[in-house]
Amino acid sequence: MLPVSGQNANDYVEADINLIADGQSITAEEGFLSQNNVILVPLHTLGSIFGPSLEWEFDGWKISIRYEDKKLVMYTANPNCLNGDKLLTLPARPTFRNGAAMVPLRYTAEALGATVFLSQETRSVMVSTTGETQWFSEISRGKTLKNVHINKTVVIDPGHGGSNPGAVYGNVKEKDLNLKVSKILKDKLTDSGVTVYMTRMDDRDVGLYTRADIANKLNADLFVSIHHNASPNTSAQGVMTLYYPAANNSVFNGKKFAQIVQKHLVDTLKTRDWGIIPRPNLVVLRQTSMPAVLAELGYMTNKAELQRLVTEDFQEKAAHALYTAVMEALQQ
Ligand SMILES: [Zn+2]
Repeated sequence: MLPVSGQNANDYVEADINLIADGQSITAEEGFLSQNNVILVPLHTLGSIFGPSLEWEFDGWKISIRYEDKKLVMYTANPNCLNGDKLLTLPARPTFRNGAAMVPLRYTAEALGATVFLSQETRSVMVSTTGETQWFSEISRGKTLKNVHINKTVVIDPGHGGSNPGAVYGNVKEKDLNLKVSKILKDKLTDSGVTVYMTRMDDRDVGLYTRADIANKLNADLFVSIHHNASPNTSAQGVMTLYYPAANNSVFNGKKFAQIVQKHLVDTLKTRDWGIIPRPNLVVLRQTSMPAVLAELGYMTNKAELQRLVTEDFQEKAAHALYTAVMEALQQ
């Protein structure tokens, strides 16, 4: 329920609401209406929400809407709605305003398969056409759209691949471990509404400059390269996070991102903390134009640690630590 300022409950009154669909703010020149606390929006607004595959027409008093296999017919003369072959009653009667047909938002969006959520506190009506609804609670808690993860892009870079296996110990290749953790991390971030790109999704060669280029072209918010370590000292174990030392420390940079990543890795994996390490010459850190880190998740050269690194349990934990770190960094 959203507050209205009308005298009669049946009056159409201006509704001062924020309409947000799939993380994008939707506005309409005609504005929005409310009748009896039911929000009505111009028909073309549904086109902005559902995209070009939504078709509509209205002639005189009849409004027809088609989307995928769904069809709705409404009338400005009465609150009847033909939803497929079912005759139902709308919570508010469609009307006209400045030449636009205004239809009840929630009813229509839900009938077309979307999820709708109203936040009284932030006067927001949120619509998800993708099933992704985690951002609903963030908006409801008063976060601005800028801070909602749905608008964020993260590039995950599974180290090595193809002809370059990285560290090899017995039949275990670093490139495979890197990819496993990367994929779990990708799923976690995607579930939270973050847009994720991987520099490789399978076992292939990708140049170091290409990896950085991918992130730069996407204008990504963060870059995470995932690796596993090796050392002549076979007793060495633990995690470290590498970053490119930037001159400007007043902004959120690779060093600050690295601190967050290292903290979560150490907390979650409960392993030796090698700290964050500046690496001015690593291509993927130096050539990327957004905060970037390279996480070394453990030493393959340490027998006991390697046994751990190959387990699903470890990979899940490492991905979770990186996920928590990325989500925290996206708030900066
Ligand atoms: Zn590596």
